[in-house]
Amino acid sequence: MSSTSQPLAQTKSAVLHRDLHRQTLEIVEAQGSYFTLSNGRRILDASGGAAVSCIGHGNLQVQKAIADQVVQVDYTVSLFFTNKPAEQLCRMMIDSTAGSMARVFIANSGSEATDAAAKLARQYFLELDPPQPQRIRFIARNGSYHGNTLGALSISGHKARRAIYEPMLLPNISHVSACNAYRGLAPDETDESYVERLADELDNEFQRVGPDTVCAFVAEPIVGAALGCVPASLGYLKAMRKICDKYGALLMLDEVMCGMGRTGTTHAWQQEDVVPDIQTVGKTLGGGYLPIAGVLASNKVIDVLDKGTGQFVHGQTYQAHPTVCAAALEVQRIIAADDLLANVKLMGEYLERALRNKLGDHPHVGNIRGRGLFWGLEFVYDRQAKEPFPVTLGLALAIHDEALAHEPGIMIYPGTGSADGLQGDHVILAPAYNVTKVEIDMIVQALGNAIDSALTRLVTAGKT
Ligand code: PMP
Repeated sequence: MSSTSQPLAQTKSAVLHRDLHRQTLEIVEAQGSYFTLSNGRRILDASGGAAVSCIGHGNLQVQKAIADQVVQVDYTVSLFFTNKPAEQLCRMMIDSTAGSMARVFIANSGSEATDAAAKLARQYFLELDPPQPQRIRFIARNGSYHGNTLGALSISGHKARRAIYEPMLLPNISHVSACNAYRGLAPDETDESYVERLADELDNEFQRVGPDTVCAFVAEPIVGAALGCVPASLGYLKAMRKICDKYGALLMLDEVMCGMGRTGTTHAWQQEDVVPDIQTVGKTLGGGYLPIAGVLASNKVIDVLDKGTGQFVHGQTYQAHPTVCAAALEVQRIIAADDLLANVKLMGEYLERALRNKLGDHPHVGNIRGRGLFWGLEFVYDRQAKEPFPVTLGLALAIHDEALAHEPGIMIYPGTGSADGLQGDHVILAPAYNVTKVEIDMIVQALGNAIDSALTRLVTAGKT
């Protein structure tokens, strides 16, 4: 830790966090792009927490929308009633798809959205005329993360997160390779033939499990936390759509992390000339003000349910919660009114340039990739061989710690590589959509310093 760094909070937490023993920093104030720790230090939030806080913290309009809604109608039960903010929010989300989507299920978290989406896919096939009850399978991708409820974790191909729950996970889910050009592209292979190869792999998987038994293929257009902001290669999603269509399966896109403007368009699929049948969103839907996620269901899916039982056999107590929807609605209105997606594109390009200038030649930065205001850096021991540092080193976490501990402190989102050595540690940058050039300069400078001090610290400790 540097001489300018402050000690971490010394108290033990009563909250069951992921790590029971790691000392916990307490955030006591959050305003704009910054939050303040109980030790008085101000930290620039360069990742919006977990890629969530898309308009910054402490927005007065959102606070007012929440307060007004709580006073007017705090809670409604979705089984019998609708409410204005939920209707307005879902209408706005549908309108953002230029007529592709017909209804939105509002959930409390991305994991629940994944579960709901999977159930919706299953129900679609049960209500088709004639029904296809044999469709019980999902195909997803290796290394993917779609949430941590048992359903969403079953769909996820993230080995480490699945490991101890493996015996409890759902059957009938299989995984194919992710689209990750940095790691997957063979020497001398073009993007086009790489995509063809991945399409063949998916086609073969359909054949292997029985093409008429698959409900949906599930993928993130830009892989977030699992791999660290890896965009699909050009034409990949289109090729996957084609295979799904060939076998009558649905395409389910997970935009919980990369959606709702994060990559420069409201939906990441809008940059790919592809429309999903079912889509999940989360994080930036509510910008962190209240917990919310959503499942967008296409006309194709809703038409079938409409003509069928007219029911979605799934529901939750806090589904379409008016106060939560009022917060998200205001966040989305601010994004539109302030034309923040234009800033995502502009500042995204600026961030990419700054990262490449500062860290493009760094001996241990193997790959810089992303889109919009969603960028990941993957670290390697040897750039030529793309050999990752051992995950036991905890490099990404060490960089995160250093980034917080130095002045100016920044929050970045760390991710651990795979234990099989096929994937390196990474960090994610996902600043608010209203981030400025000055803040980006600070972020990139601070990140560079944090990488170097983490490496020095680990080398000094004899760990590399
Ligand atoms: N899908 C993706 C792509 C995610 O990144 C996440 C969260 N990191 C989830 C699903 C699960 O969302 P939540 O943590 O809100 O349950």
